[in-house]
Amino acid sequence: MTTEVAPGVHLVEIPIPVALRVVNCYVLRAADGVTIVDTGFHTPPTEEAWRAALAELGLGFGDIAKIVVTHFHPDHYGAAGWLQQQTGAPVLMPATERPQVERTWSAGSNVAGSLTSFFAGHGLPPELGEAIADVQNLQRSRVQPQPRITWLPEGRPVAFGGRTWLPIWTPGHSEGLMVFWSETDRLLLADDMILQRITPNISLWPGMKVNPLRQYLASLDKVAPLPAALTLTGHRRLVEDLQLRVAELKEHHRSRLQIVRDAVADGKRDAWSVGLVVFGPHDDPHNVRFALAETLAHLEYLVEEGALLRQQEDSQVRYRIASA
Ligand SMILES: [Zn+2]
Repeated sequence: MTTEVAPGVHLVEIPIPVALRVVNCYVLRAADGVTIVDTGFHTPPTEEAWRAALAELGLGFGDIAKIVVTHFHPDHYGAAGWLQQQTGAPVLMPATERPQVERTWSAGSNVAGSLTSFFAGHGLPPELGEAIADVQNLQRSRVQPQPRITWLPEGRPVAFGGRTWLPIWTPGHSEGLMVFWSETDRLLLADDMILQRITPNISLWPGMKVNPLRQYLASLDKVAPLPAALTLTGHRRLVEDLQLRVAELKEHHRSRLQIVRDAVADGKRDAWSVGLVVFGPHDDPHNVRFALAETLAHLEYLVEEGALLRQQEDSQVRYRIASA
């Protein structure tokens, strides 16, 4: 259940109730105390998995000195408040994630409502909109209690797990996501910024001012020069050749941009119908949500590039080829 992947760095696979099935969390043991990186959704199986993992490592909640959360997504952030209650440890998070945490998880926020009206304007059938709102409200129930957070500024080295890490802001998968770079042993804690086999979800959500795909491609260029010996990922396998994976991820988005552009080619299309061409039909609301938001990130990137035009008629947004 736990695997030592670098000296004192233990991979802990925490089960999550979504299609990805598992989130990679880490326990870092060091003379300066034990650090947990990322936490899972807060569910009974998560509590059980954390208790079992710590027991396997001969640790208890009282040994945990710090909790690091890489970004605000519920599979990474969800159990942070519960773990903080058990351990009394500070929860450290990138300061650049603060707006996302407050917008998404604060008591008065209505993410479900803004998501469904945003998607309705891009052609999502109403019954799927309701299912997506239900999923969003369910996610919300799986990130309680909320942690008290200590915000980490970009670029100021931070010590945990026996190493000094440089936090590097690498937006795209989420607007405030940071990766952490340990120069001494060339370890990159990349969470969901770099994944093996699957590609990090790059999505346009309501309220975003900067195109996430443009940000993500720039973030890939930012991490590419790091001479990483090992990249610790947020899901699936770890990455041994960072430069190769960066090149593959860039190629993936180049080819997906072409597919999205081709899907628009025969006329005026809304994002929902383009998404059906790119991803095929989905009925799981969780996947519908990501497929549509990811399609939108690519469509809007092409609008910025001048390849597509966005047209709004009444409340509906449609895209067409710019030269037509
Ligand atoms: Zn994520």
